Amino acid sequence: MLLRQTCTRWAPNGSQVSNSRVRCLTGAVRRVSHQSIKQLTIGVSSAVFVFISYSLFTNPPWSHASIAADQPLSYQHFIPASIIESKESGPATKLITLSIPKALAPEDCHPIYSVYIKDDDLQIERPYTPLFGVEKNGEMVFWIKRYEGGEVGRWLHSKNVGDTVEIRGPVPTLSLAKEMENDWDQIIMISGGTGITPFFQLLHLFLQDGSGKAVTKPHITLLHSSPNPEELPPPIILSTLRSLEQSHPGAFTLKVFVDSPHPSSFAYSDASFKPLHIGRITKRDINATLEELGLWGRSLPSKSSLLSWLNPFSYLSRPSHTTSSSPQLPEKVLFLVCGPEPMINAIAGPRARDLTSGPVRGALGALGFTAGQVRKL
Ligand SMILES: Cc1cc2nc3c(=O)[nH]c(=O)nc-3n(C[C@H](O)[C@H](O)[C@H](O)COP(=O)(O)OP(=O)(O)OC[C@H]3O[C@@H](n4cnc5c(N)ncnc54)[C@H](O)[C@@H]3O)c2cc1C
Repeated sequence: MLLRQTCTRWAPNGSQVSNSRVRCLTGAVRRVSHQSIKQLTIGVSSAVFVFISYSLFTNPPWSHASIAADQPLSYQHFIPASIIESKESGPATKLITLSIPKALAPEDCHPIYSVYIKDDDLQIERPYTPLFGVEKNGEMVFWIKRYEGGEVGRWLHSKNVGDTVEIRGPVPTLSLAKEMENDWDQIIMISGGTGITPFFQLLHLFLQDGSGKAVTKPHITLLHSSPNPEELPPPIILSTLRSLEQSHPGAFTLKVFVDSPHPSSFAYSDASFKPLHIGRITKRDINATLEELGLWGRSLPSKSSLLSWLNPFSYLSRPSHTTSSSPQLPEKVLFLVCGPEPMINAIAGPRARDLTSGPVRGALGALGFTAGQVRKL
């Protein structure tokens, strides 16, 4: 208060300080007692403390205030990215390409990782998976779904080429780099809708590393499902995967499912969609895949075990094929499941409350697979 009064008296405007104003200031300073200086110090310190605390609370390092336009892409702060392409890829999906300056792209990222994109209007962020990672030229291609009542997806779909969004990352989704070749003979991925994006990133980087070396282990199978042919992943995803399947016959197998075949004209025009399996991915399809891979030569579970699968408490009882007369459960098989919540629930059971994978239920639980072999992304 004292400081404010003094200031308004001695320098209200203009850069020249007159002699009378200097005298006024000198007088004011003389009048300031020792007690006042003490109060002033306490006041200023408190104000600085309150300001810093407020700033840290309202603007943590990952929030809107932490924008570092000239810093490399990092999970600790946001940097601006330009939308350089945005095109429809189905009834509710778009392929959106973002670009950051080449010099700001991170050196080395191991799949699988995502990048947070912030909705500037609501100040909320969501993670999205760059299909080809953060490319050396600073570009990132995303396949993004818009949900009816959703926030960030809808906001992103409304953005145009030339607009800027803020991003931070990369943030690891699942690190498989170390265990990939040594721990698993087979990796079976099961995805629904845009849940294919983390698997695409892994497959692209793992199978297409440019080193020319033949990848033999682990063998990867991807079972993907979409509601109908129109909503299948765009060619940049599906055709690329079909090409990878053809160029790596011993290393990768792709199976595509649709809940319903309509509109059929859409699907059958593109070879990359074929063969198209009709119906949701079920325990039977997983079982058939395990058989094709030579992992167990088991016929489908008996009627009684199918009935026990329909029983919500069946996971409490022992799976039928673990009886002494059945073949051993394949051990070096890892399942990765990513998709809408109801699909994850049906295939592998719900996630735990802390969003970790939790116990294995659903189709994989009924087949006898346990938590160490199943990851829910
Ligand atoms: C690691 C990771 C990577 C991901 N990668 C991708 C990707 O590459 N592409 C992609 O499309 N998605 C991806 N996602 C999902 C993405 O992060 C978002 O969760 C998704 O886009 C939905 O966000 P939103 O803000 O649009 O919708 P939200 O606002 O979060 O809403 C999501 C759903 O909840 C419903 N909902 C919203 N509000 C309510 C309410 N009040 N009551 C009931 N229901 C409600 C909406 O209708 C919608 O169906 C990824 C997720 C993770 C964790």
